[in-house]
Amino acid sequence: MKIQAAITQETGKPFEISDVELPELGPKDVLIKVKASGICHTDVSGRDTGMVDPPAVLGHEGAGIIEETGTEVTDLQKGDHVVVSFASCGHCDNCMTGHPAHCRHYGELNLNSHIDQDTNTLVSRFFGQSSFATYSLVNQRNVVKIDEDMDLALAAPLGCGLQTGASSVLNVLKPEPGSSIAVYGVGAVGLSAIMAAKIAGCKNIIAVDLHENRLELAEELGATASIKSGKDVNIAEKIQEITGGGVQHALDTTGVDMVVA
Ligand SMILES: [Zn+2]
Ligand SMILES: [Zn+2]
Repeated sequence: MKIQAAITQETGKPFEISDVELPELGPKDVLIKVKASGICHTDVSGRDTGMVDPPAVLGHEGAGIIEETGTEVTDLQKGDHVVVSFASCGHCDNCMTGHPAHCRHYGELNLNSHIDQDTNTLVSRFFGQSSFATYSLVNQRNVVKIDEDMDLALAAPLGCGLQTGASSVLNVLKPEPGSSIAVYGVGAVGLSAIMAAKIAGCKNIIAVDLHENRLELAEELGATASIKSGKDVNIAEKIQEITGGGVQHALDTTGVDMVVA
């Protein structure tokens, strides 16, 4: 099937809109008409760092409407509104014990995309979806059905950035009501963590970032205090002042060595 996609022809080059072929629908696959896609930092890394093998199609926060289902798909049907998340194998030990994000085959199933140049076919799809396209062919495991009245453009980033921040707090840190948490870096992932901390009932929710506008948004979404970081700012001291003894929980979303240390 011929579709249109934003193609990464070469590492570091801008996307080019062009035609590409999607492979046949497999028995466990669904074909989705993509209505919206978030852009995550991993898409930028995919385009600019050689993570994928160009020509490739990136995009891994897709949302849309199911157009066709494979013969073994039983709980999704044509017309369903869906959000698409990461791929997992479904049969390794981590998948079988409820941790698909730690799937043993995560790298090969997700951090990969390639268009075969002889046939112009998208033979491997980024995060199992390659959502920077008009259609996406996805294994049913990656797909979550949502209510039809939900705005697909708002739902799309739930597939990666928002669930990463929110589930880091709700499923991993599991902060006790009344506890304190610091969130370093309040982009999409950090802001989601802030919202989750509010839902969890944290007393002190401290946002730390270099950018004033992000800190303002963090306070709108639930942060009780914010710290504008910088070379001369002693963040630990400020957190002590705010909490009167430090935080029980901290989440880093920056990936900056100095912040983690
Ligand atoms: Zn992502
Ligand atoms: Zn697995």
